[in-house]
Amino acid sequence: MPLELSIRQLVIRLVIFFAISAIVGLWIGQLYFVLLASAVSLLAYQYYFRVKLIQWIWNSKAISPPHAEGTWGRIFDGLDKNIKNYRTKQKSLTKRIGYYRDGAEALPDAAIVLGHDLTIQWSNKKAGRLLGIQWPGDSGQRIDNLLRAPEFSDYVIAANYSEPCVLVSPVNADMQLEIRFMDYGKDQVLLLARDISRIHRLEEMRRDFVANVSHELKTPLTVVRGYVEMVQSTEHALDPHWQQAFNVIESQVSRMDRLVEQLLILSRIEAATEDDMLPINMPEMIANLITDANWLNQDKNHNITVTCLQTLGIVGIDSEIKSACSNLISNAIAYTPANGEISITWQKKGNKAIFSVKDNGPGIRPEDINRLTERFYRVDKSRSRNTGGSGLGLAIVKHVLQHHGAELIINSKWQQGSEFSIIFEESKVISS
Ligand code: ADP
Repeated sequence: MPLELSIRQLVIRLVIFFAISAIVGLWIGQLYFVLLASAVSLLAYQYYFRVKLIQWIWNSKAISPPHAEGTWGRIFDGLDKNIKNYRTKQKSLTKRIGYYRDGAEALPDAAIVLGHDLTIQWSNKKAGRLLGIQWPGDSGQRIDNLLRAPEFSDYVIAANYSEPCVLVSPVNADMQLEIRFMDYGKDQVLLLARDISRIHRLEEMRRDFVANVSHELKTPLTVVRGYVEMVQSTEHALDPHWQQAFNVIESQVSRMDRLVEQLLILSRIEAATEDDMLPINMPEMIANLITDANWLNQDKNHNITVTCLQTLGIVGIDSEIKSACSNLISNAIAYTPANGEISITWQKKGNKAIFSVKDNGPGIRPEDINRLTERFYRVDKSRSRNTGGSGLGLAIVKHVLQHHGAELIINSKWQQGSEFSIIFEESKVISS
């Protein structure tokens, strides 16, 4: 019912009320008395409903306002209508929140909503099973006070959430968790934790499998190579036909040998720990690498120049760094056409140390650059095979650098040349 109550109507009603009172007053000869009695009764009527309204607001448990007639009836009806609207909206909002909560509960991951100060605002049940976080019991607590693993503290301090953090579940030591932070709502962070124990176990199995197979292949390869060399070095020269066959066998056995050796290096790097890091005399290592490079360069005859800062060293694993740097140098020698220009530099830039190898070889297409460090990825398989490449060299470099918190930057222009740079962070640099 539309509320047709205007000031004009109110005034008209009052005028009619007092006019009738005046007529009655005049009729019984008590004008002032009747007018006064009418005014008092009108006031009492207003007070009565005001008191009813106040009592209903403050004391009553009833959801609907009390019944009333006239103007007050309209006021109460209006209030009743607003309350019903509000309750319908509230019900639909509660229902919607319920849907979202159910959705968050159905997630296979633990989900925790954190405030900007990393205090817990809400979490699903899975958070209890994976991280031991209970809601609402832990509500308002800082997440880093409850998850005390050093990896997690470092992750929170570094505040670089582009990569996930991997840690052992505080609830179950056999469970590996991958934790991600992402911006959520206004000034909030959503923490998602996923159980990656299965992936972790598979990864371990893969590592062990590759390491074991590589190791087992070494002995038969050595035996075959020994026999091939023995046959080739017999006093009686082999028939040219057989000689060619043995040459092919020898070169293929050497290739397999290199492949197995690189797989073993990769396995070793994956198994190594931070504890093995020691100061490395980089200028001395680079000098040795140059000696090897000159030997490799005999056929190609590149012009190799070296710029080396003699006072600059790093902390790391000697064999790994040597392997990474030597891979970059041997690639430059192998992929640059004969008589090319190769420059090797070891220098400081700001607080970082940079090892780089630049060549004027064939370069790499932009679409291939991001995939170069994948295992067995070769841009041009036939060309790579000719150079004896296995596609594992840059995968080794990547793993070594990950291990040392270093970065590989590849700058390359198709058909103009490439520059591979290893950037060591300040924490690993030693300057004397
Ligand atoms: P490989 O053992 O085949 O050399 P790498 O992982 O070392 O494997 O290199 C992967 C691919 O990257 C190579 O197949 C080659 O195509 C390309 N590549 C590496 N270094 C260079 C370079 N200096 N110039 C051009 N291409 C290169």
